[in-house]
Amino acid sequence: MKTDMLNSLEQRGLMDRVLVLHYHEIWLKGGNRNFFVSRLAAAVKHSLAEFPIESFRHVSERLLLTPEDDTTIPAMLERLRRIFGLAYIAPARKISPDLSELAPAACELMAEKDPQTFAVRAKIADPAFGMNSMALERELGREILTHLRGLGKNVQVNLNDPQTTCWVEVIPGAALLYADRVEGAGGLPAATGGRLVALLSGGFDSAVAAYKVMRRGAHVTFVHFFGTPSPSRNSSKPVAIEILRTLTPYQFSSRLYLVPFDTVQRKIVASVHERFRVLLYRRMMARIGREIVRIERALGIVTGDSISQVASQTLHNIAAVDRVLDLPVYRPLAGDDKHDIMRVAREIGTYEISCEPFEDCCPRFMPKSPAIFSSPEELDRAEEALDVESLVTEGLAGASALDFKFERGEVSVREALPRRFQKLLEWRKGTSGTLATEPRASARS
Ligand code: ATP
Ligand code: MG
Repeated sequence: MKTDMLNSLEQRGLMDRVLVLHYHEIWLKGGNRNFFVSRLAAAVKHSLAEFPIESFRHVSERLLLTPEDDTTIPAMLERLRRIFGLAYIAPARKISPDLSELAPAACELMAEKDPQTFAVRAKIADPAFGMNSMALERELGREILTHLRGLGKNVQVNLNDPQTTCWVEVIPGAALLYADRVEGAGGLPAATGGRLVALLSGGFDSAVAAYKVMRRGAHVTFVHFFGTPSPSRNSSKPVAIEILRTLTPYQFSSRLYLVPFDTVQRKIVASVHERFRVLLYRRMMARIGREIVRIERALGIVTGDSISQVASQTLHNIAAVDRVLDLPVYRPLAGDDKHDIMRVAREIGTYEISCEPFEDCCPRFMPKSPAIFSSPEELDRAEEALDVESLVTEGLAGASALDFKFERGEVSVREALPRRFQKLLEWRKGTSGTLATEPRASARS
């Protein structure tokens, strides 16, 4: 979905020559600053690979990108809006940092914008520039007001809530002038914080949960458990794949494990009281997810749980499910309302995909009255009827994996079961079914 600003820039046919890319500065305080900025710059370059670019520089705490061809700017902005770590992006005019050039350019820009109220905001990032930012704002404000009133406009300065802001940034050797800017995706640059494994159902919540941790720099690998849907419903697998196609551009590459879940569910249905079914499904998903964490050398699991949204997500039930895990489980939606989750799903493009009717499991496997306040001990006892470890192995043995890559504006998909996966599976099949030994050494070899 394009912003109004992009549309209006396109309609005016008047794009400016430089893109000013601003990053959030909070994460730049520490010694990792260069690392983050270089990863951000690499993400920008990767995402714009097929666009001809004249220059791309890091200047005075911003990235400055000069395209070879102005007409590519709207398409570039669309790409850049997905780059984590960018606070905002502004198509700017680059002019000489001289008041005699700056003032007429600012007047011309604001005459095009034709606001009823405006303010000038200046940032001076060049100690050699002869004025401070307040003096420059005042001077340009006065010139613009005189110019616009001279054109017969009924215009006023409003510093608190201006209709249009005239931004001026002075950097060594140039001034950047703009009145529009596109909000960036925020967060931290992609894949700068280690790997997490997200349990992705195809529903609204888990896609948003994965997005939220991706936005904090986690590189996410996805696991989807699928069963046999009722004849009138579609399988959940294409839904999971479509979500991956939509989320991969944010982190450039992703892996999706597809794990068959029918056998596990059938065993649970056959052996356990129906009120514990869903919670035991979740425990099994967590355990299989935990093995994929090992294969991927990840640091935790992500789920789309939101406290008490459904019976399986009460605090009691979440605690009872998590007891089988010995690693961090991130629930970035824990405190979110469904309404907030849907809004993000719409923004990131997964909403329509999750709206598709699909079933990730046969409805016969769902209980009529699930437990609401279970305890870990109750679930442990219920699980005594199952051979948990061989079910985990069986789930993994049926799994397949897909690798997604975002390059030159396209997402490509190819099958890929990593060698470490085979190693882990062999290791599991060769044991009597205990997980006491950490299999990383064999997985790594
Ligand atoms: P979602 O909208 O993500 O489906 P939900 O509110 O419908 O979540 P549940 O269906 O109870 O809740 O699932 C809770 C969480 O368990 C999901 O957010 C997801 O992380 C995980 N999960 C559930 N089903 C699956 C599945 N088939 N494959 C992978 N993960 C799943
Ligand atoms: Mg669901």
